[in-house]
Amino acid sequence: FFITFEGIEGCGKTTQIRRAAHWLSSTGRDVVVTREPGGCPIADDIRAILLDARNSAMVPLAELLLYAAARAQHVSEVISPALAAGKVVLCDRFTDSTLAYQGYGRDLDRGLIGHLNALAAGAVKPDLTVILDCPVETGLSRAMARINSTSAAREERFERESRLFHERIRDGFLALAAAEPNRFAVVDGSRGVEETGVAIQELLARRLAGR
Ligand code: C5P
Ligand code: MG
Repeated sequence: FFITFEGIEGCGKTTQIRRAAHWLSSTGRDVVVTREPGGCPIADDIRAILLDARNSAMVPLAELLLYAAARAQHVSEVISPALAAGKVVLCDRFTDSTLAYQGYGRDLDRGLIGHLNALAAGAVKPDLTVILDCPVETGLSRAMARINSTSAAREERFERESRLFHERIRDGFLALAAAEPNRFAVVDGSRGVEETGVAIQELLARRLAGR
């Protein structure tokens, strides 16, 4: 069972994935937590290129192709084998981030992105995609607090993006969810960690029942 978590900066994906993994493990499931871009050494190297503030001159098409390359490696090396072994895979961002960021955000052709996503992901498709939705202002202030309190300065490319860019991404995620309501669940991520966590746990319990 493949579950992806999506949302804007600071929506709480990473925190909630950790919590969900802990809970799923406690119910006896074999859980793998991974993330994009990254998730294996080659894709982590590509992530470093993508998030390096010195690479701000990167053109959107180059960015798109690097995300696709990282995904092809990650799917084949990590996600496919884990799913084949019957594990529950939780992934922090996946194909929908590419549609939201490079499509809705950077205005690249969404049909092209769909083809590249399919090429990179092969037969792997999320069974459930959780959108952690919150206002851009809430997300950005959380993300800023995180950057100021850690040494994450390297991963600061997004700081320079306009607020409107993040609004387009948020709207993009919500449009994707509306177009495919069976795969997506939109969860209000503006609440506290515990309250949001309980909502996600209930959602997962429902969706995984009998699997
Ligand atoms: O998941 P995380 O918040 O760590 O994402 C890393 C960064 O990569 C974010 O700043 C996000 O904006 C960016 N990103 C992107 N396009 C994607 C996926 C992530 O610009 N398709
Ligand atoms: Mg995160």
